[in-house]
Amino acid sequence: MTPSVAIIGAGFGGLCMAIQLERAGIRSYTVFEKADDLGGTWRDNSYPGAGCDIPSHLYSYSFEQYASWTRRYPEQSEILGYLEHCADKYDVRRKIRFRAEVRRAVFDGVKWQLTTSQPAEHTEAFDVVVMGVGQLNRPHLPDIPGMSGFEGVAFHSARWNHDHDLAGRRVAVIGNGSSAAQLIPRIAAQVERLHVFQRTPNWVIPKPDATFGPLTRFAFRSVPGLQRAYREWVYRYAEATLYPALAQGWSAEPLKKRALRHLRDQVPDPELRAKLTPGYPPGCKRVVIDSTFYPALTRDNVDVVTDKIVQITPKGIETTEGLREVDTIVYATGFKSTEFLAPMEIIGRGGRSLEEQWNGGASAYLGISMPNFPNLFLLYGPNTNLGHNSIIFMIECQVNHIMACLPHLSGHGPIEVRPEVMAAWSRQLDAAMARMVWGGGCQSWYKTAEGRITNNWPGSTTLYRKLTSKPPLTAYRPIPAT
Ligand code: NAP
Repeated sequence: MTPSVAIIGAGFGGLCMAIQLERAGIRSYTVFEKADDLGGTWRDNSYPGAGCDIPSHLYSYSFEQYASWTRRYPEQSEILGYLEHCADKYDVRRKIRFRAEVRRAVFDGVKWQLTTSQPAEHTEAFDVVVMGVGQLNRPHLPDIPGMSGFEGVAFHSARWNHDHDLAGRRVAVIGNGSSAAQLIPRIAAQVERLHVFQRTPNWVIPKPDATFGPLTRFAFRSVPGLQRAYREWVYRYAEATLYPALAQGWSAEPLKKRALRHLRDQVPDPELRAKLTPGYPPGCKRVVIDSTFYPALTRDNVDVVTDKIVQITPKGIETTEGLREVDTIVYATGFKSTEFLAPMEIIGRGGRSLEEQWNGGASAYLGISMPNFPNLFLLYGPNTNLGHNSIIFMIECQVNHIMACLPHLSGHGPIEVRPEVMAAWSRQLDAAMARMVWGGGCQSWYKTAEGRITNNWPGSTTLYRKLTSKPPLTAYRPIPAT
């Protein structure tokens, strides 16, 4: 029997799953996508300057190398174009049901009953569910008094208001993470005045971007092995230099020196430099990789505001030092990153809710599967985010693992990860986490309010590949009879 598979989300994860099913000749799948187009985060994040600070040739599927990248680091429109190219080439678009939000998934003892919104609210049964909703899909808006009374225009960076022309405006950007660092340089020259509200400085290292001209692209297209070798080199470089820094190994100090040199080179004013110097180790929060952010902050029409925000008034943002009048507020305030799979309601074996199981923070074996939730698999799930390499690599490992599980489903009925395997996994994860830089000295989107790191993978990506490619069955069991 070929299992029926529901894939939730048509971003990098969901599309990868759909493509691998197609390639394996399994056509009994449906992709549910709540928006009206594919692309996930690369459809949602269309702010000026949106792009990826992981090199193009690595930020793509290993099985679909692409010689058309025009830059070393891809911009949003090119990444979206790449995903559209993949969906068309592997003919998975026909299987995507757009504007179909999955609200509820209930395991009935044999199958998953999904409640979806399209066409009209109804329930459909599937043998397997693969969640590809990502970690950064729901914008986080801060809870600042007076926000709703603001008379100007306000929006989140991931919901950019393209109808609102910023030319000549007085603009506030709240936040200075990777999104803010990309958009600020693009808008700084257009606006009359830009107030960047920084709560915590970030470590910033240069992004050695460059264009790939027609000759380079021709070489990537025609020289056998060149593209693969380049991709391999980029991958190994990140693994050999950035990962040890996050594990507080040999490269932690060189990374810090490189970031401080970048700050010194780009920000001559010592007062501004002091404001921008972090007081925690690099990598504790996501390192910003950008060469245009600091120069934008040194412009005459840009202020870096570190005074505490007290409230938002109809006219602007009031800090402990007074009111800054603005007509536009951009919330570059990140995402609800630790609320995995929300707002879907997921009810597993014996009526157990996932929300209840994840009470102390989300966790899953390999970030992929959980006891009590048979035949339910996650892509880019808990503890699979990286601070140093390509998430697409991780997604491919996860899809390969799920594909290896599928043949075992038909003979044995639904399978779930063994509780003792999950417990051992959690213990190993905790032990590995202890040596990583994320634990101390900073707040970040990698952890819950209680300080548990639920988002990041503490090992190397080569270790992750090895663990996910082990034959899966010893870790799983058929569900116990009730
Ligand atoms: P983020 O890194 O979570 O940054 C949110 C920013 O908003 C922080 O500066 C935070 O300050 C600030 N903030 C939040 N609530 C606030 C409040 N109440 N008052 C004042 N400031 C507040 O979000 P992001 O920049 O959207 O990036 C999220 C992640 O997306 C990145 O870390 C990265 O993994 C991914 N991303 C990647 C790329 C790429 O090129 N690969 C590009 C963009 C985004 P604190 O630091 O003090 O909390």
